[in-house]
Amino acid sequence: MNTYEKTIKNKNIYTGKVVTLDIETVILPNDKIAEREIVRHPGAVAILPIDNSGNIYFVKQYRKAIDSELIEIPAGKLEAGEEPIECALRELQEEVGYTSNKLTYITRIFTSPGFADEKIYIFKAEDLRKSKLNKDDDEFINIYKYKVDEAFEMIKNGEITDAKTIIAMLTIFKL
Ligand SMILES: [Mg+2]
Repeated sequence: MNTYEKTIKNKNIYTGKVVTLDIETVILPNDKIAEREIVRHPGAVAILPIDNSGNIYFVKQYRKAIDSELIEIPAGKLEAGEEPIECALRELQEEVGYTSNKLTYITRIFTSPGFADEKIYIFKAEDLRKSKLNKDDDEFINIYKYKVDEAFEMIKNGEITDAKTIIAMLTIFKL
């Protein structure tokens, strides 16, 4: 069955620093017309840093969208023209103060394809070396270290609920 939706009109509602919101009018496969609300995002990277003793570095920060603190692996938005691997090394230094001599691309995920095009590239960072870059001055972050087993326990008991973090844990340690 053909499932393609052809856009016949695109109306930009909002253009912000992080996202844009468009309403696209589309023709459905049955020739009916529908509107799709689409959030466009430049994409991001998430990095799971693990040291030689098996500690994984997590960041805890307040997320306004959900009005709650969240434990996550370090992550950040791609800058214009930036390759995911460069972004991963930059965010690792900005958020946890390390660089990596062994950065491995793991996979990429679409976070909410029902309404957003955001894609996150996931990396594993090993052979960590201290190297600090100043973080964005609107980011307030606390760093925590957990062992792999502890982190999986926190996923099971609901202390870790961030999707990219859970997917990184599963793809790196269980696949
Ligand atoms: Mg970040």
